[in-house]
Amino acid sequence: MLLDNHNRHINYLRLAVTDRCNLRCNYCMPSEGIDFVKNDKLLTIDELVTLSTILVGRGIDKIRITGGEPFVRKDLMLLLRHLKKLDGLKDISVTTNATLIGPYITELKELGIKDVNVSLDAIDKATFERITRRDQYDTVHENLIRLISEGFNVRINFIVLEGQNEQDIIPILELMKHYPVSVRFLEEMPFNGGSKSFQTIKWDYKTILGHITNAFPKYTKLKSPITSTSINYQIEGHKSTFGLIPSFSRTFCGTCNRLRLTATGDIITCLYGKPKANLRDILRHKGNSDKIKEAILSAINSRAKTGFEAQQEHKSVFSSSMTSIGG
Ligand code: SAM
Ligand code: SF4
Repeated sequence: MLLDNHNRHINYLRLAVTDRCNLRCNYCMPSEGIDFVKNDKLLTIDELVTLSTILVGRGIDKIRITGGEPFVRKDLMLLLRHLKKLDGLKDISVTTNATLIGPYITELKELGIKDVNVSLDAIDKATFERITRRDQYDTVHENLIRLISEGFNVRINFIVLEGQNEQDIIPILELMKHYPVSVRFLEEMPFNGGSKSFQTIKWDYKTILGHITNAFPKYTKLKSPITSTSINYQIEGHKSTFGLIPSFSRTFCGTCNRLRLTATGDIITCLYGKPKANLRDILRHKGNSDKIKEAILSAINSRAKTGFEAQQEHKSVFSSSMTSIGG
């Protein structure tokens, strides 16, 4: 079992498999993209399997695949097939923009991978295209409906962006009320590849809740697992639920159970902090699993208590992009 220096039980790995993406969401990266790393810097499938095996052996029992866009990686299913066989790994899930998942839906189902988070920040086509800077609305919509109707446990991630998509908050709840999905509204974080920096946000979780409950006054708060980052609710008469993720306000750090591994092997113990070690380099140069275990334990033993504390590790404003960190 992995316990950090604040006695938090770490059992959840967010595993980024690439930093590349076929969209250019404006809250995530600049229109020209970022300096994507060279292919040989990305962890190979074998390396991803080796590192996951070590981490699962130490007590990780839940892995979420993320990126970049995981499905731009053609060998992704190979990794998922390997992960499926890992003893002790109870839960595999995926976060995706749902543009490329279509051809893989059947195999995901066969593998029993049913938890899929879909990022969708608008239901209006023009707004979607403005935010993502790409013309993929119809594909995303089609794949989303397919995932829901094939029985996947779908959660929609909607980042509330000032001046861009607030007008879609109520309509997305109206649209989704017929479906058994969770719509989660996230606060915007300053990880956009340096395209803008901000110290405060208009749409924090309390403002989002006020906006929603103004339109739907009859709702109940749901019980959520202690490690959940979302505060969850259900509106009377809706099949769907909704959640608020205070990703900028950081109210959930006290129970954080996460570890992140980037596609280049950086181990990150808090989204707001700096990488603690590079497991790819240790694996490639030392090839010794004891050294990797040491680096993992040392990272877990020096975790910041909160995202605000972790933020102090940066000297100036953030310049990284979520496509490199994995979200
Ligand atoms: N490409 C996939 C997707 O978009 O779902 C997976 C990677 S993406 C970096 C992972 C998550 O990070 C997505 O839910 C995305 O909305 C979120 N994200 C990206 N940039 C963000 C930002 N600046 N603030 C808050 N969340 C962000
Ligand atoms: Fe790509 Fe996801 Fe970033 Fe959008 S949020 S640009 S889909 S990695």
